[in-house]
Amino acid sequence: MAEHMDPDEFRRAGYAVVDWIADYWTTLGKRPVTSQDPPGAVAAALPASPPEHGEPVEAVLADLDTLITPRLTHWQHPGFFGYFPANTSGPSVLGDLVSSGLGVQGMLWATGPACTELETVMLDWLAGIMDLPERFRSTGPGGGVIQDSASSATLVATLGALHRASGGRWRAVGIDRRYRAYTSTQGHSSIEKAARIAGLGEDGVRPIEVDPETLAMRPAALRAAIEADRAAGDVPAIVVATVGTTSTTAVDPLPEIGAICAEYGVWLHVDAAYAGAAAVCPELRWSHAGLELADSYCFDPHKWLLTGFDCDAFWVADRGELIEALTVMPEFLRNAATESGAVIDYRDWQVPLGRRFRALKLWFVLRWYGVEGLRAHIRTGVALADRFARRVAADDRFELAAPHPFSLVCFRLRAGDEASAALLDRVNGTGRVHLTHTRVGGRYTLRLAVGSPLTAEEHVDEAWELLASAASDVVAG
Ligand SMILES: *Cc1c(COP(=O)(O)O)cnc(C)c1O
Repeated sequence: MAEHMDPDEFRRAGYAVVDWIADYWTTLGKRPVTSQDPPGAVAAALPASPPEHGEPVEAVLADLDTLITPRLTHWQHPGFFGYFPANTSGPSVLGDLVSSGLGVQGMLWATGPACTELETVMLDWLAGIMDLPERFRSTGPGGGVIQDSASSATLVATLGALHRASGGRWRAVGIDRRYRAYTSTQGHSSIEKAARIAGLGEDGVRPIEVDPETLAMRPAALRAAIEADRAAGDVPAIVVATVGTTSTTAVDPLPEIGAICAEYGVWLHVDAAYAGAAAVCPELRWSHAGLELADSYCFDPHKWLLTGFDCDAFWVADRGELIEALTVMPEFLRNAATESGAVIDYRDWQVPLGRRFRALKLWFVLRWYGVEGLRAHIRTGVALADRFARRVAADDRFELAAPHPFSLVCFRLRAGDEASAALLDRVNGTGRVHLTHTRVGGRYTLRLAVGSPLTAEEHVDEAWELLASAASDVVAG
């Protein structure tokens, strides 16, 4: 017979796990940011099969220290500057722990009323503190929902757009015409993936050219592509505009793009996965100008707003369209609350049926930090990036490769691609920092993205000193 962990044993082991996490955070800055072990090292260190007899939690904790943490990329490390940040925080972890302990499935309102209602209120709270357009609030025809990721948000938006563009026929007969999606050449790869899954095919995505200076979508090029497709008998279904592109944080001009979408009846989805969080600060809201023209919008609190993965906040202007596109009602889910029409069933707003109680971690984060605390976090990131960018600009071996309105700085060595790539290898090889790269205008470019709550001036300064001294070696040959 299985021996379950009783509440007292859980309490004891649980405190030990919390202690372990707190120790991990305390010692994080002293660890190498990434592992230097070759592929297969972790798998080779693990036994071939699970134990026949159960073991205490302490045995697993000991193995975490020897097998797992030395072979991780430490995303919460103060020297982690790669990709975009994927923040977590104490309150987020605790909220998630409560969610795990409750083990509630929030697919329907009826399967956990508070799970649904807290989520609706949290998304309204977020819309309020970011000053998002009224149309996204649950008090009107729109509303918000938590998706696992921006990728899922784009997929769901694409399905809503196909439903609209086909006059509802998509639901019954699938893809029976050539529907088209549009995004800039800088749009995220998840847009192409969504198009493939939705049946448009990757050729169904039209890459729209960008301004070479700002790297933002050119509205005239969007209009030309839409008109060419219409002339060929294709149906423009969705435009995905980006606030804060992944490569360089370029901001597409929403007012012009929104006007074009309105003119042709095309769904506008705005992907602000990373940079959306900036809108909690009034001085950064310029990036969201024109958002009132969007049919849907998303950003990831799990990137830059201190809420652990997974948490993407997704809003639609017309929830009716989305629900119509995605609802399926088998007999075993029928219930009086759903039939009354008075409740939200979030399963109709996403691809899976089941869903975790993710609003809890958001609630814990919003209450712990307060709006003031969230703003301070964003402002710290922006200020640190700016501090770093000033160092880059002042050293004539280096150049900035793009504007840096948020907390990402793109830069390179004037000596060229090979030197820049060698520089990245060198600084990452120190184990003190971790940066990643992109290409801007075809040229190899380093990216430094600030966002860990542990990152302070000293860490950004250390990154610069490592780069500046490695640059001497690299440029000298
Ligand atoms: C990170 C990112 C995504 C993907 O985010 P997930 O939440 O991991 O799916 C999509 N779009 C942009 C602009 C991003 O920066």
